[in-house]
Amino acid sequence: MGTETKAGTATLYVVATPIGNLSDITLRALEVLKSVHVIAAEDTRMTSRLLERHGIAGKLMAVHEHNERASAERIAGLLAEGQSVALVSDAGTPAISDPGAKVVAAVRDAGYPVVPVPGPSAVVAALSAAGFENSRFLFCGFLPARAGERRGALADLAGEPATLVFYEAPHRVVECVTDLCAALGGDRAIVFARELTKIHETIHRCRLDEAVAWLEADDNRQRGEFVLLVAGAPETGDDDAADFDGTLKILLDELPLKQAVALAVKLTGGSRNVLYERALALKDGE
Ligand code: SAM
Repeated sequence: MGTETKAGTATLYVVATPIGNLSDITLRALEVLKSVHVIAAEDTRMTSRLLERHGIAGKLMAVHEHNERASAERIAGLLAEGQSVALVSDAGTPAISDPGAKVVAAVRDAGYPVVPVPGPSAVVAALSAAGFENSRFLFCGFLPARAGERRGALADLAGEPATLVFYEAPHRVVECVTDLCAALGGDRAIVFARELTKIHETIHRCRLDEAVAWLEADDNRQRGEFVLLVAGAPETGDDDAADFDGTLKILLDELPLKQAVALAVKLTGGSRNVLYERALALKDGE
């Protein structure tokens, strides 16, 4: 695979790298890192280790949070000279709670192709092993470090039905979980996805009101990198009832009430009592 597009334009590749285990890198990512002219890295020392491990001698430049805008211009300049660039962060996928978005936006604006080279990301790895059946999730990144702002953010999330996914630093994990429990209620499930792909990988599921005790039972449980996943808000009875109205109306137009309800129970999986109540209300012209 070449580093140029078919039209011969230099390309920015956004390359995902391991989140712990250095073997977690795709064949395509290695090919791209080998073949580009420049590798733009969040921390060049960290990326050097990865490149050494895979026998790649790349030309590195630093792109971090504090020089991202200036680096974006430099990268656009390299592309203008026909040099392809790979953008990597310290771990996982660039631009996911990491620098990268400004570079990508500037390069797109300058009219050069941006090609993702997908691979590890802690959010997806954690979700894949957490066992939440809800197919919807909301990635919230890091919550605010200040307690007041964090509690405000959590209050806004309390009614969200999607699985909530957070990144958290080890020194704040107890505070964060305490606030999660206060804001969302103790009976929701939380999954700790800690040190994924590393020696001390731990995936633990419990109720939110058991979570602080679990963390405090062993100091090691508060060390390392964390993804926290929390079950979404349970659907309320009212929402369910409203969701059933469409189905019930169609059935009530064609069938007697009892039969309409029986069929609606089969079709929606809803509770017979709730559906019966809604059917009566609809019949009465509510
Ligand atoms: N760009 C990265 C990605 O795609 O996942 C995330 C970078 S963000 C600066 C770092 C945070 O990601 C950590 O504080 C932690 O919350 C999460 N994280 C990264 N690696 C992890 C791992 N191996 N296990 C658990 N969480 C991890």
